[in-house]
Parts: sequence; C-alpha cells; structure tokens
Amino acid sequence: MTTPHIRILATGGTIAGSAGSAITRGYRAGQVAIADMLAGAKTLGIAARLDGVDIAQIGSQDIGWAEWDILHSHIAEACADPDVDGVIVTHGTDTAEETAFLLDLTLAAGKPVVLVGAMRPADAVGSDGLRNFANAVRVASDPGAHGRGVMLVMGDSILAASDARKWATANVDAFKGYPRGPLGLVTPTTLDWFAPPARIRSPARFAWPECLPRVEIVYAAADVESDIVDALISLGAKGLVLAGMGQGNAPKPLLSALSRVVQAGVPVVRASRVDEGSVDRNVEVDDDSVGFVASRSYNPQKSRILLQLMLASGITDPARMQSEFDRR
Ligand code: GLU
Repeated sequence: MTTPHIRILATGGTIAGSAGSAITRGYRAGQVAIADMLAGAKTLGIAARLDGVDIAQIGSQDIGWAEWDILHSHIAEACADPDVDGVIVTHGTDTAEETAFLLDLTLAAGKPVVLVGAMRPADAVGSDGLRNFANAVRVASDPGAHGRGVMLVMGDSILAASDARKWATANVDAFKGYPRGPLGLVTPTTLDWFAPPARIRSPARFAWPECLPRVEIVYAAADVESDIVDALISLGAKGLVLAGMGQGNAPKPLLSALSRVVQAGVPVVRASRVDEGSVDRNVEVDDDSVGFVASRSYNPQKSRILLQLMLASGITDPARMQSEFDRR
C-alpha cells in the first residue's frame, strides 16, 4: 500500500493555541503555524505524507465568509487532485460544527474531509491537540472514510458534520453527536467504523454560493420583548431562526411577530435553545397555518447555515424547506 497523502488546511483555534506556560489558564488561539504543527506531528511517527496550507490563524469565533470561501476552494482543489487522498481542516472548536455543516452541505461525499480541533492549547499539560490530530490523520487516510461526508474528529470520536454539537465549554470531551452518536471510534493505532458509508458518490446538496444571505437568530426567554423581530428585518435579515424554548416555543407576542414576518415572505425556522431533542411540526405551534419550518434535529446555529444555503439557492417554499430540514 502506498503512503497516503493528506492535505492539512489550518485555520487556527486551540489546536494551534499557545499559553506560553503549561499551567496558565489564559491562552491565545491560532498562534502556531501549520509548518510548526507538522514538525511536531513528525515526532508521532504518523504513516502519511502531510502537507499544509495556512488558511487563517484565528479563533473560530472570528471565522466567516472570507475564510469559508477560501477554505472551500482549497478543499475542492485537494479533492480534485488525484495525488491527495484526504483533507484535514484544523479548526477552533467554538464554531467547528458550523464550518463542518456548511462544508458537508456543499461538497460531494467523496474523499474524506475531516475537521479536527483541541480543547487544550499545544503547550498545556495534557494537551489533546496532537492526539486528536493523529486520530484525524488515521481517519483521513482510511479508504473506509470515503462516502461519509464531512466529519469532525475530537476525543477519539468520529462525528458526522450534521450530528456534531459542542456541548461543553471546557471538557476535553466537548462534542457529542445528535441525533446519531459517533460514526466510529479512532485512536492513533485503531479505527472502528460502526456502519458502512451511507453517502458513497452522493453529489453536493447545494452549490457553493456567491455569498451567504443575512439570517439572524432570535433567542426566546421568559417575558422577552418581540420588537427585536421587526428591528432585524429592517436591518436586512432575509430569514430568521427562532432559538425557542422546549420544542421551539416562544411567548405569544414573539410568535405573532414571527408569523407576520412569514406572511411578508421572510422564512422563519423554529429551533430550540435546548441542547438535545427534536423540534417537530405542529406540536404547540400550528406550523401548517402559519408557514413556519421546524428545525427537527438541527440546533439554531446549524439551522441558520441550512437556511442561508437555501436562500442563496433561491429555495423559499416552506414545504421544500421543511423537506431539507427533515433530511438526515
Ligand atoms: N475560541 C477558540 C476557537 O474556537 C478557541 C477554542 C477552541 O478551539 O477550543 O478557535
């Protein structure tokens, strides 16, 4: 077997973070350039040929269209290169689920594309970065990783982009999958898939857009004011996502404001501020008569990405939108 060739696209985050001391609490994300990270990885004895490109050196709270656009074109180029077997994106954990989902929806499910991050900076005691990186290389090099869509590797778990959620602010085990658990488990020396790939040769669900339309998230809370809705529309929002209570509920004045927005032709997706569980249609809110879309298993931040891509593709019919949210 020939040695796999893996392209590393670095964006920053804690995996490239530095504290300047092994025991300090504060640190800065995105300090270590990819060349230095690859020099560190050489000491691991990884059986792959790695080359790297610095896309950005930022904390992922600052990632946005400019970085995503460059990242997408580098991934497309690597996937089209017969000499490249897989792609790894090193990324901060704060928005890894959003970047992973955006890429998953806009790339064909061919060669493995794996996001990887870390919860502890490179120079911290018990840093998880190099282990997660070695795990990601193992996944990206594995022929069984083809046809699974974009994945996130963290803490020995392999999560599908559509399922990955950051659920802890500081634990090393900061991600979980919902509604599905991991696709498999990986360590630097082992790799176990739990099922065969489900998306072999599946084309991209959405074309890469010219830009992403403005979609805002409205956070519901007890006794919250509803005039924020009109303010967001007048600021130019082309769609809204409700981070609702429970199954996407909200106080009556807020729901009324959102219904008026739908009547004016601006789509509204009802999601939940609760970390786990589905938001289904017509439970306490009459989606059929109002025209809301239920987010099903997608949290508000993933719902926002999906709604942005639909709007960019000219999809505005609520039934068609619902079918995209129903899809797994
Ligand atoms: N906030 C930074 C980021 O998301 C650091 C957090 C991390 O990577 O875990 O890039």
